[in-house]
Amino acid sequence: MKQSTLFASTLRDVPADAEAASHQLMLRAGYIRQLAAGIYTYLPLGWRVLRKIETIVREEMDRSGGQELLMPAMQPAELWQESGRYHVYGPELIRLKDRHNREFALGPTHEEVVTTLVRNEIGSYRRLPVTLYQIQTKFRDERRPRFGLLRGREFLMKDAYSFDTTWEGLDHSYRSMYDAYSRIFKRVGMTFRAVEADAGAIGGEGGTHEFMALADIGEDTIVSCSCCSYAANLEKAAARSADGVMKTPEAFHHESDCQKIYTPNIRSIDELSSFLEMDASAIIKTLVYIVDGKPVAVLVRGDHEVNEIKLANTLGAQHVELADSDTTERVTGAPVGFAGPIGLAIPVYADQAVADMAEGAAGANEADFHYIHVMPGRHFQPAMIADFRNAVEGDACARCEEGMLRFHRGIEVGHVFKLGTKYSEALGAKFVDQNGREQAMIMGCYGIGVSRILSAVAEQSHDSRGIIWPAAIAPYQVHIIPVSVKDESQMKLAEELYGRLTEHGIEVLLDDRDERPGVKFNDSDLFGIPYRLVVGKLAANAEVEFVERRTLEKQVLGADAALARIIASLRGQ
Ligand code: ATP
Ligand code: MG
Repeated sequence: MKQSTLFASTLRDVPADAEAASHQLMLRAGYIRQLAAGIYTYLPLGWRVLRKIETIVREEMDRSGGQELLMPAMQPAELWQESGRYHVYGPELIRLKDRHNREFALGPTHEEVVTTLVRNEIGSYRRLPVTLYQIQTKFRDERRPRFGLLRGREFLMKDAYSFDTTWEGLDHSYRSMYDAYSRIFKRVGMTFRAVEADAGAIGGEGGTHEFMALADIGEDTIVSCSCCSYAANLEKAAARSADGVMKTPEAFHHESDCQKIYTPNIRSIDELSSFLEMDASAIIKTLVYIVDGKPVAVLVRGDHEVNEIKLANTLGAQHVELADSDTTERVTGAPVGFAGPIGLAIPVYADQAVADMAEGAAGANEADFHYIHVMPGRHFQPAMIADFRNAVEGDACARCEEGMLRFHRGIEVGHVFKLGTKYSEALGAKFVDQNGREQAMIMGCYGIGVSRILSAVAEQSHDSRGIIWPAAIAPYQVHIIPVSVKDESQMKLAEELYGRLTEHGIEVLLDDRDERPGVKFNDSDLFGIPYRLVVGKLAANAEVEFVERRTLEKQVLGADAALARIIASLRGQ
């Protein structure tokens, strides 16, 4: 490709509304342009990268036995009503009406469409298992579209769905997708972790893993063990206190009775901790939650946070929500900030770390008063003790019991999920088994954010001058830059190199623009093509400057040697 005709303009200034480095660089390098919030055009360079990612995804899906198809983005609302998700999905689902006033939705995901399709096509165990996939534009009216392609409202996803006759079959399909995902993220050149995740609102039984690209701007917290291979997202990560027993300040005296003390206007854990001169870990935090319509109290240590997903899962609840201040006041008899476990008439659920405390401070359910020396089990009896909190850095690993939990930020780039029979039951996707009995198909679903990968890789792989693409997904592999296009010998050598590389199936961008060298080099740094050949004054000796984008180190090589070097490096990819 000749750069003089390339549809890409680079921007010198950092766009004001782009926070993430990847977003800034992809705008500046002319890979993407925004049409509306979270809605982007992929310009030719961006589209080339995207197509390469797509190819890798497609190859690995095919290799693991998936069959590609393409389903409609526009989906009748009835399908969503049948599965029960039309109302659950909320404002993220983009809804519209046709000219006959019939309701439709733009697909944010395709469980409904694919399950209906398979229901209508397959009736016997003989034609199962089957895994279908597509690479398609999805629509989600995200509350906060941001970071460019990382959270779009219109984005490219690979979604796959497996249909099995047995749970063992599902395990097998799931494992094969998990392995394919690991190969895909490795091939695109990403640093990633597969983590255990919570099943969430999509429902279903069994396991689910998220694939996370490690990056500081990631919205997810990845919890992993310093010793074993345990890794989970924060929603799911099992919390286990490092020593199991509260570090009681020496000053505490172990009387059997708790003591009520005057704490005027002391409402927050921070305020109480400085007022009582005790660590937040010595305070019992009492929060009132509404669980499926009923108020309950949840106790966690002052330095811990309630994990609402664990709370809902442990209590088998559909809906968990922090009570408003009026409700809290009504059930505790005190304003917010003074709730405590003693004498409450609602069920009290204590996190394990609270139960492990020898004693602690807690609200007295009376305005401006707290108790100290409150002993769990003595002064109050929890209805249940379980893991109700978020893990924190330094917690002991619940898996190996030796390592410590560490935290990293991650971007979710893929998700594999055992759905079970949730959709096949709701939508009637049944098959007749060997014994002539009708059974619901057992499903899995598997998503990859194809366009999100583009941003996630750029986020992981860039420097202050621009993007640094891994060769496997770079828009071009080699950038040839003649320093002066007016110099005949330079242009001749540049064209010759271009021809020879192209013959080897290598994709080359030739900067044939009549621009100052500084402008060309800056643009080249921004584009991030992995190998650069600068053809300058040494062209007369058939020599070029070979530059690797990652290091920007320059090396003078004979043209043949430079070519051989590039071919060898790309073959090693
Ligand atoms: P998130 O928690 O980031 O919103 P999700 O759990 O809603 O993701 P899934 O429904 O599992 O995502 O979708 C499958 C994949 O699609 C995700 O792993 C992610 O890579 C990608 N994805 C989801 N939402 C977006 C979005 N708004 N923009 C770009 N990619 C997305
Ligand atoms: Mg989402």
